[in-house]
Amino acid sequence: MTEEQTPTFDDMESDVLYEPENPLPDFSFDDLPEDLRARVKQMGWSDPMPVQKKAIPYLLEGRDMIVQARTGSGKTGAYLLPIIEKIDAGKKYCQALVLAPTRELARQVYTVLEDLTKDTDIRTTVIYGGVRYGGQIKDLKDGAQIVVGTPGRILDHVYKGTLTLMNLRMLVFDEADEMLSMGFYPSMRKLRKQIPEKRHTCMFSATIPYHVEQLAHEFLHEPDRLSLSKGNQSVSELEHRYYIAPALGKDRVLVRLLEYENPESALIFTNTKRDAEYLSEFLKNYGIDAQHLTGDLRQNKREQVMAGLRSGEIRYVIATDVAARGIDISDLSYVFLYDIPEHVEVYVHRSGRTARAGKTGIAITICEDIQERKLLGIARQYGFTVEKRELPSDEQIEERLAERLIVRLEDTFNDYTMMDRERVGRFIPVVETLYEDDDMRMLLAMLLDQNYRQLLHARLYEKQEAEKQQKKKGSGDGGGKKSGGRGRGRSKRGGGSRGS
Ligand code: AMP
Repeated sequence: MTEEQTPTFDDMESDVLYEPENPLPDFSFDDLPEDLRARVKQMGWSDPMPVQKKAIPYLLEGRDMIVQARTGSGKTGAYLLPIIEKIDAGKKYCQALVLAPTRELARQVYTVLEDLTKDTDIRTTVIYGGVRYGGQIKDLKDGAQIVVGTPGRILDHVYKGTLTLMNLRMLVFDEADEMLSMGFYPSMRKLRKQIPEKRHTCMFSATIPYHVEQLAHEFLHEPDRLSLSKGNQSVSELEHRYYIAPALGKDRVLVRLLEYENPESALIFTNTKRDAEYLSEFLKNYGIDAQHLTGDLRQNKREQVMAGLRSGEIRYVIATDVAARGIDISDLSYVFLYDIPEHVEVYVHRSGRTARAGKTGIAITICEDIQERKLLGIARQYGFTVEKRELPSDEQIEERLAERLIVRLEDTFNDYTMMDRERVGRFIPVVETLYEDDDMRMLLAMLLDQNYRQLLHARLYEKQEAEKQQKKKGSGDGGGKKSGGRGRGRSKRGGGSRGS
């Protein structure tokens, strides 16, 4: 690994931030077999992109790697080219598996894979949840050798016996950080039991927060690391982003961002105690687990809140600067700045709560129009880049929610016995009836929302349900007719899962 650097904008051209000791020589397309080289040329790729140049030699050597790379950097080619080169086209079973967090990414990777394997004997398929099984089963039966897909549905096929991973030789996690944020950790763990111990595993991730490291620890064997600073790759361990929001709509913008990013834990800074209190109530009312941390809380209460954040008991803590002083949390991957701080240096203190001890992190500022100049001024003064981002659209958020929910539901369903499935099947006619009518459809949506909260915000959900029951008891109504308590036995799963 090279020594730690604090790069400036000028360094962005070609820097490698980390690479293994005794680096291997760069890869060139001339190193490829002739037919693959021809296909690469056909795709208009004249030279390897930096991540390909640097990573491919290690992948070809069969070394486990953690590569920090974003979409757009050429990472797909960086792992697909070595995979394709190593496939034994004569053996009709799955030899390489690429796991992706979303259907969209799985499809994207698959498109490149199709282009790279066109007119060859190599068989490929893409597998993800929320669609029919038929086509997927056919591809698998036909002996797909490279499989791209989302973990939940892949596992589903393994349990069904339609996919065997016993002969898997290469495993790639693409966007590993996203995979955790989508809630795939339980499926990934189960999958580990289904693949051979001896295999070649690589992980690609835009950020490498603590939980990605943990995942690497579980799946990779003495991995080498590679991190590049080229292009839109974050140059620092800490990535700074901001979103413009109207003063009165910042609370909703925060909710949107939390819904979209779904960070496992985060510290959210406000300038005032009042805002901290307001926001924690606002988030709780929305069904998001949050707790405020203000200077007037007693020391032991403050420590309790922080311990809760550290242990995962509390997901989001909303703090004022005074209250957060001296707090030591080393593995927060997200810090939100709900306000631009009054004093410039406070920004650095706040954002410094993430990406500590060599970890990567993201600092997100919610910024009013008139504060944008001030934020850019801070960035200039401290020599970092802060990237302006568009708020995720309704469709993008819906897509994320849907994917996360489907992942969870399929995951739960995977564990169901035949009897369980039979019982569930009784409700299919009910689903059809409800779906027919607009008002009735809302009931279905309500069920899904309940499930989503139960699975993704298990602790808060249970607390709120318990409170409701308590209130009901208090008002003398002992009847449980309207209770939403079904399935509580399963909520432990959500609570125990990571990256939720
Ligand atoms: P990725 O980061 O893998 O999503 O790739 C981003 C884009 O770069 C995709 O459109 C790829 O087709 C393209 N690409 C990948 N490798 C190369 C290359 N060596 N030369 C030119 N384009 C490439």
